[in-house]
Amino acid sequence: MLAIGLMSLVSMDGMSQKKNKVIAHRGAWKNTGATENSIGALEHAIKLGCYGSEFDVHMSADSVLYVLHDHSIQGTNIETTNSAELSKIKLANGESLPTLEAYLKAGSKQKKTRLILEIKTSKISKERSLALATKCVELVKKMKVEKITDYIAFSWDVCLKVKELAPKAHVEYLNGDKTPDEIQAAGLDGIDYHLSVLKRKEDYIPAMRQKKLTTNVWTVNDEADLKYFLEKDVDYITTNEPELLLSLSK
Ligand code: MG
Repeated sequence: MLAIGLMSLVSMDGMSQKKNKVIAHRGAWKNTGATENSIGALEHAIKLGCYGSEFDVHMSADSVLYVLHDHSIQGTNIETTNSAELSKIKLANGESLPTLEAYLKAGSKQKKTRLILEIKTSKISKERSLALATKCVELVKKMKVEKITDYIAFSWDVCLKVKELAPKAHVEYLNGDKTPDEIQAAGLDGIDYHLSVLKRKEDYIPAMRQKKLTTNVWTVNDEADLKYFLEKDVDYITTNEPELLLSLSK
């Protein structure tokens, strides 16, 4: 047991000690009472000791970045509303709608849980998606969290943009339609695909590993599915059930 423990310490990537495969989807909210994508949900994921905590980022009309999954909250569309209005919005748990700056500040107080930043695709234009990507990379640098932040996006162009701006960043593509060869040729670092894609394309996990690229799978919540992907030895599992996955991983 001691030998195995030492081996896993030696194999850590220098930035973060990889103790488990658990990425809390929108933070740890389902079993904690925290609202998804709230700073409280991030703090619960950190407390649990998850490898990573995922969250979604949009840009307001006046180019301020906010953490939220949907494009709208309480009938207010993020992309077409200014920050002066958005800053008045309260989440169900009483927190203000978090800016990315406040969110990264909360995450920066620790190093063991990685911040898995999803850049959402603009519904207005590709230019806006790319502007959001640029602003995310700039803010991550400003907040000094580059070493604990990874990026994911459905937009292929956004993934390429992040890689261009931050060549050392770990960037995974979400949309499921690129092969391991295409990911490698583009210089990206991994795939983060829906569980149905990775069940259909059983060869992707070993193919990515052979290329020294990573595979993450979303969003796996059923115990049988969690066990299936643990068995396949996927690198990361994104889940609404981080507590269950942590207990299955032991
Ligand atoms: Mg997301």
